[in-house]
Amino acid sequence: MNVIDVRDVQFYYDTSKDARIIDDIRFTVKENEFVSVIGPSGCGKSTLLRIIAGLIRPNSGKVFYKGREIAYPIPEISFVFQDFALMPWLTNVENVKLGLSMSKMDDDRKEKLARKLLDQFGLKGFEDSHPNVLSGGMKQRVGIARAVVSNPRVILMDEPFSALDELTAEELRGDIVRMLKSKKISVDCVIMVTHNAEEAVELSDKVVVLSDKPSHVKAIDSIHMKYPRDRHKKGYQNLVDDLYEKLER
Ligand code: ADP
Repeated sequence: MNVIDVRDVQFYYDTSKDARIIDDIRFTVKENEFVSVIGPSGCGKSTLLRIIAGLIRPNSGKVFYKGREIAYPIPEISFVFQDFALMPWLTNVENVKLGLSMSKMDDDRKEKLARKLLDQFGLKGFEDSHPNVLSGGMKQRVGIARAVVSNPRVILMDEPFSALDELTAEELRGDIVRMLKSKKISVDCVIMVTHNAEEAVELSDKVVVLSDKPSHVKAIDSIHMKYPRDRHKKGYQNLVDDLYEKLER
């Protein structure tokens, strides 16, 4: 069964002009898939992710979550932002609890869950401090904890590692793969937007390659390689080169 079905989506920010951003995008995401959407800057990747999140509506076409049309944000789908989007006036545990603001759970339970997650994300001792004392990598761990605390079925990630230095990004990518594969983060699927082919190959079961705007799907590649994926393994660099070639074609 498809968890997410993006069906013939078109999008214009300004319908009065010929300002089509997304010409026609369709792809599906199945259970246990990690899907990356890759494409040139400005081709509408973030816009597409916001359409899947139900934050904006497509001009035509539809997106479905397990057969139900997504017309507004739903609790089953949560979002990880490129710039972390933490509230600086709240403590880290309060930021994670924001992910439970729609939940009817009592506050004690929310607090316990948020603290447990911060611990799992390597942030024990930082629960009651504010985001400004954290490094970029630690901030994004709080951002991911906030996204998963409500036990969503789908995580959407918009360039989640691109604001981090490469070493930190690599460490966090490794942690995310470990947590997903060990089911410490239990979701049905992940959709990640990136412009980085190496990152897409490291993380994804499937890569959707978009064209320049107005964008359409140029290719959908499946990557069959065991996790954790090592950049030095045979075949890895070929997959990366192949993706870059498809992007440029
Ligand atoms: P990407 O994530 O692939 O870099 P975006 O989805 O951010 O692309 O943006 C796609 C295009 O839409 C860009 O040309 C951008 O300038 C334009 N755009 C983004 N947001 C808006 C907006 N709110 N109003 C008008 N145009 C926008």
